[in-house]
Amino acid sequence: MKKALITGITGQDGSYLAEFLLSKGYQVFGLTRRTSTVNYERIKHIRDKVTVLQGDLLDQYSLTQAIIESEPDEIYNLAAQSFVPTSWNQPVLTGEVTALGVVRMLEAIRMVNPSKIKFYQASSSEMFGKVLESPQTEKTPFYPRSPYGAAKVYGHYITVNYRESYNIYACSGILFNHESPRRGLEFVTRRISNGVARIKLGLQKNLILGNLNSRRDWGFAGDYVEAMWLMLQQKTPDDYVVATGENRSVKDFVEEAFKVIGISDWQKYVQTDKKLLRPAEVDFLIGDASKAERILHWKPKTSFKALVKMMIEEDLKREKENNKG
Ligand code: NDP
Ligand code: GDP
Repeated sequence: MKKALITGITGQDGSYLAEFLLSKGYQVFGLTRRTSTVNYERIKHIRDKVTVLQGDLLDQYSLTQAIIESEPDEIYNLAAQSFVPTSWNQPVLTGEVTALGVVRMLEAIRMVNPSKIKFYQASSSEMFGKVLESPQTEKTPFYPRSPYGAAKVYGHYITVNYRESYNIYACSGILFNHESPRRGLEFVTRRISNGVARIKLGLQKNLILGNLNSRRDWGFAGDYVEAMWLMLQQKTPDDYVVATGENRSVKDFVEEAFKVIGISDWQKYVQTDKKLLRPAEVDFLIGDASKAERILHWKPKTSFKALVKMMIEEDLKREKENNKG
């Protein structure tokens, strides 16, 4: 039985990846940080099937200890301060977790078992930022536009560097935005799906958003975790873009979401607030995942329309449940 250690198992991707690895017969360990209230909402349905180890990307000892205890074949480093606006409010913390957390993890691997353990780093299309070419590939130069993007660039290059310096099987997955009903409520797609569901149920009148014109290449998180796993099943480690190859504006997402609940004049319900604009914006992202398709035989399965529908339906269900009686 193969063993995997997932950092960030309580997050969106961690929960889907844990499900996926369990379905492949893995023994799954998850690193979670100590909080005063437990935070297992996204993994409550599989909580009895995974082993939780306490640790924090800020704490070198806890990472080394988690690896010694779990003896993993594969480590998926998904933990991060992952929200772009927070990275301007807490730039140093973002650097400590999202950038230096990666090298702490790699150092722990180097100390414990560098020839056995395979490593996946959750890199991001935010590294392309103010894009220098479109679509973006593994060869497109980076131009990050936020402390988060800059931290992810460090995480990417240190992963490549440990592969080249110490021959560690380390891969960087450059994933474009991927969403799901488990996406954090502060991200735009979930803010829209939750707001639209609440408007439908009469719990909210308006939806307040920031920049409606930026464009993202949005996929489904459940599809993307398979690509992470595939990267660690190859003969040689490498870096891959994972994307759908299509992009839509925030406005398109809003329009599609209101369509799901039967409203076409969505403008009546949407307001914009300057406070939600960012100091520097990433206007346009679109990925070219042809390398992942050629080598990993990976392709996204869920369409944009299906993703929006799935998110609205889940939020309708959840909001009905929460507001019963
Ligand atoms: P989430 O924000 O949902 O999850 C982040 C996870 O990291 C949570 O489990 C969180 O724990 C954990 N975490 C945060 N800080 C620490 C720390 N100091 N020590 C240990 N754990 C910590 O992110 P996603 O699941 O959406 O994303 C997974 C990874 O992929 C992230 O690295 C993200 O930056 C990256 N990524 C995501 C994309 C996307 O579109 N979703 C696109 C490209 C990259 P807690 O629950 O306690 O807060
Ligand atoms: P990101 O691509 O990782 O920054 O993911 P987000 O979902 O946070 O943001 C995607 C895009 O939506 C960005 O260009 C934001 O400026 C834009 N956006 C517009 N309104 C909002 C909003 O209310 N919340 C968030 N999070 N983003 C918004």
